[in-house]
Formats: sequence, C-alpha cells, structure tokens
Amino acid sequence: MKNNLICVLIGAPGAGKGTQAKSVANYYNCKLISTGDILRENVENRTLLGLEAKKYIDNGNLAPAQIVVSMIKNVVKSFVENKAGADKSLLFDGFPRDLEQNKLFEQILDELNLSIKGVIYINIDDDIVYERLTNRRICPKCNRVYHLKFNPPKFDNLCDDCKVKLITREDDKIDVIKKRLEVYKKLTYPLIEYYRKKNKVVEINGNKSADDVLKDIIAGINCAK
Ligand code: AMP
Repeated sequence: MKNNLICVLIGAPGAGKGTQAKSVANYYNCKLISTGDILRENVENRTLLGLEAKKYIDNGNLAPAQIVVSMIKNVVKSFVENKAGADKSLLFDGFPRDLEQNKLFEQILDELNLSIKGVIYINIDDDIVYERLTNRRICPKCNRVYHLKFNPPKFDNLCDDCKVKLITREDDKIDVIKKRLEVYKKLTYPLIEYYRKKNKVVEINGNKSADDVLKDIIAGINCAK
C-alpha cells in the first residue's frame, strides 16, 4: 500500500469484517482500528466507557456516537503524532457506522490532513449472517473464534489452545442478531450510498470463502483511485 492510505471496512454483522480486517492490515502492514474490538476490550476490563457501551452492545444497538468518536479521535491522533514523516496508513473496521459518525470522522481526517482512499463494502446475504453468527463460538480466554460446523473445536465445546469452555457472544443470540441487522440496514446503508456517490465504494461479494473475499478486497484496494 502507498503511504497514508486510509480505508474503511463496512459490512453487516457476520460479514467477516473482523477476520478480513486482520488479514488486510497484515497484508498491507497498516494500523487496524476496530471499534468493536476496542469496545469489547473496555467491556472486559470494566472501564467506565465499557460499562456504558455494554448496555448498547448487548441489545444490538450502536454505542453513542460521542463515546465512539472521541475514543477514535484519541487513537488516531496519538498514532499520527507518533508517525511524523512515516507511513500513516490506517484501516478502520466497523467505523464509521452511520452518517453522524462519518461527519465527525471526516473532520478528524481533515484536521490531520488525511483523506479516505476507499470504502470496502462486504455485501452478504441475511441467511448467511444468521448461519454464521448462530454457530459462532469464542474462547473467553484467547478470543479465538470457532464455527460449530465449518471450524469446530477438536474437543466438544473446548478451545483447542486453552481448553477453556467456549462461549456464545451475548450479541450473537438470535434476537440480538435480528436487531443488529435492522440497525445496520437503517443506519449504515445511507453511509454506503454517501460513499457510492463519491465513487469510493469497493463492493465485495462476502458470500464467498474467506480466502476468496480477501483476494477480492486486495484487488479492489489496489484499483481504488
Ligand atoms: P462489531 O464487532 O463491529 O460487530 O461491533 C459489535 C458492537 O459494538 C456493535 O453491535 C455496536 O453495539 C458496537 N459498535 C462497534 N462499532 C461501533 C461504532 N462505530 N459505533 C457504535 N457502536 C459500535
């Protein structure tokens, strides 16, 4: 990736954003900022921010924009300040999520003299979202992710590495998945349309295997204007 390339990864819950974000950041050697991961870390560590965000996450709603945006502003600013004269490429996973967050996001980038290169939109069918998320299990110790059918643990419901009992993420319960999808369609679709009009959207078919999706994303980023 060239210097200072800023990309955003957007997709429904279960679209594989988290998995792809790690692979893409690794491939291009750019810093990955995942709001979902930062918020979950805060929930785990019972910080004030985490306790506040948990109420929203567990119900499938978005955490308040002020919390998320100020959190992102701090992370981005300190990253950029420590990188004077060096590559400041960044990949955002799960942020911005709606037009309100995007407005503040664009202000932050403006202040830092950075601009978005491409918005990678992983498009996936609803039935695949349900299939993936209801079968997803997590190791509470190392956060390794399993799928009960396609990537099951070797021993019944135990993490292969830690031997700890796997759990279902609170927000992977069926009612919460339904809510997350509703929120996504209502708030994030307009954001995708906003960037489509600016010719910034690289649309990827997320129904394919993880390896194929990664190849398509890399090809898409390389072509982004
Ligand atoms: P994710 O791991 O990206 O699916 O995010 C999990 C949950 O964290 C979401 O359902 C939201 O409750 C919260 N979250 C993550 N990113 C954001 C964001 N940019 N704005 C508000 N809430 C967020």
